Amino acid sequence: MFNSKHYIVGDQNVSVPAHLNFGKYILDKLRLKKDEVALANGETGDKLTYKNLTQYAVNLAVSLIKLGVTVGDIVAVGSEKRNEFVPTMLGIVFAGATYTPYDLRCGRAILKHKMSITKPKYYICSNLFWNTYKDVLMAFDCVKVFITLDDSIESLISLKSLTTNNNANVDLFEPVKVQGQTDVAFILYSSGTTGMPKGVQLTHLNCILNSLPHDFSDDSLKSVFVFGEWFHNYDTFMTYKVLAMGKKIVYINKASPEIFLQACEDEQVNIAMVVPSLVVYLSKTDDFEKFNLDSFMFIYSRSSPLHSKTIENVKKRLPKLKNILQGYGMTECGEPTSENWGTKGPKPGSVGMVSPGTTIKIVDPETRKILGPNQRGEICLRGPVFMKGYIGVDPSTYLDEEGFFKTGDLGYYDEDTYFYIVDRMKEIICYDGYKIAPLELETILQLHLGVKEAGVVGKPVPYFGEVPAAFVVRQPGSNVTEEELKSYVAAEVAPFMQLKGGIRFIEELPRNTRGKILRRSLREMLQES
Ligand code: ATP
Ligand code: MG
Repeated sequence: MFNSKHYIVGDQNVSVPAHLNFGKYILDKLRLKKDEVALANGETGDKLTYKNLTQYAVNLAVSLIKLGVTVGDIVAVGSEKRNEFVPTMLGIVFAGATYTPYDLRCGRAILKHKMSITKPKYYICSNLFWNTYKDVLMAFDCVKVFITLDDSIESLISLKSLTTNNNANVDLFEPVKVQGQTDVAFILYSSGTTGMPKGVQLTHLNCILNSLPHDFSDDSLKSVFVFGEWFHNYDTFMTYKVLAMGKKIVYINKASPEIFLQACEDEQVNIAMVVPSLVVYLSKTDDFEKFNLDSFMFIYSRSSPLHSKTIENVKKRLPKLKNILQGYGMTECGEPTSENWGTKGPKPGSVGMVSPGTTIKIVDPETRKILGPNQRGEICLRGPVFMKGYIGVDPSTYLDEEGFFKTGDLGYYDEDTYFYIVDRMKEIICYDGYKIAPLELETILQLHLGVKEAGVVGKPVPYFGEVPAAFVVRQPGSNVTEEELKSYVAAEVAPFMQLKGGIRFIEELPRNTRGKILRRSLREMLQES
């Protein structure tokens, strides 16, 4: 759908169930399965069948309704990853309320920030979460009822006592009616890479569109690994896509590559939804030779780009792997582009074509003029899949005059309308009139066998603007030097892109809970050095 006249790519029209109730959409799918495993914790071995998942969610919904929960109420969930998490999200949505998650690892400052944005009325947490953040939680008097996922402690009501006493009839239960286009089903948070996380309101319609099944509906693909947390748009909606197709979700608690590989062998994983750093790990480690990964067919990677050589390296080492697919996504609208929709198959370096329900234009960041193929500019998007809005933020600060969301990401599309992400606009290093994308240098550095991971930022210099400076974590056992890495990079890139700001070796890169490199922290480290 390439409109050469207006250079707006994609199609906003997409078919959705008429009732526009996310709870009903998912419940109708869940009821089709019974004793098949829906969720498997690949670390502890805990499993939940479709029948038990659905019963739990419906019991919870009935209990919440009895407690007085109603449309418009915000119910928070704070917990480590566990099987109860998914049916708890669903129970809240079935009750017509709005679900919002808080991450156990987010830390006090971010938790306070998120709670002051959303002001939940009900709070469902694990005992671990309660014990970690009790003082923060108690300081918010917006919360009327605290419920624990575990055995009752202190003043918390036990969810088990709420849900086991009512064996609700799953076949007769109907989720509470909502206004699908306006009522908010989920409030999720942006990752907080560029500043404090923003509260993203997703309506029932947004959630349905984000969960429509897509290409891996093939029956031979039965087991899907989701690496991330159920706090993020991508992992949350990938989980619902997979459940809507009646397949098995596999997850682990610790972000450990070894536990991941063991779980993939044990649960015969066919598709792994992972973060790019794990693909880089797979391209270098010998660990996976200890595991039988013959079931592996596809790897999906999101959130930052992969170098095509990294992809080739993994494919060579896992001969049964059919492909590694990349997409471009964000909390505000799911996956505006996806490799899955590529009519010409995956293209190296591309994040694919526009997903259904979205239109995209590329705009000159200065003149705001719309650009054509192969011209770099800000990615702006629009469509029914796009959020209702950030909580408490004036829409005119993030929408343009045509209602397109200004993503702040620099990118372009080619003559086949395949998209390519360059980097965030604010991160681009300006050196003597040249524009340098730190992501490009990071992916090149990561290809070096002596490098485990790398982050690149601009170092201010007189007259020329900024020069790229790198922070590098060495591979265990490597003693690669600054000079070696500088000459390696110099051989790969144009002279203006060389690492003139130097290389600093560090133990670990600062990352947010999504695993994204925090370049703002690297810039602070650069100032201090
Ligand atoms: P915040 O908005 O709070 O600063 P964030 O933008 O990192 O955090 P997310 O919504 O999780 O929060 O991430 C979306 C962003 O991730 C995109 O806007 C883009 O910058 C980046 N991103 C996503 N997919 C890719 C990809 N395939 N390649 C490069 N960058 C990507
Ligand atoms: Mg963002």
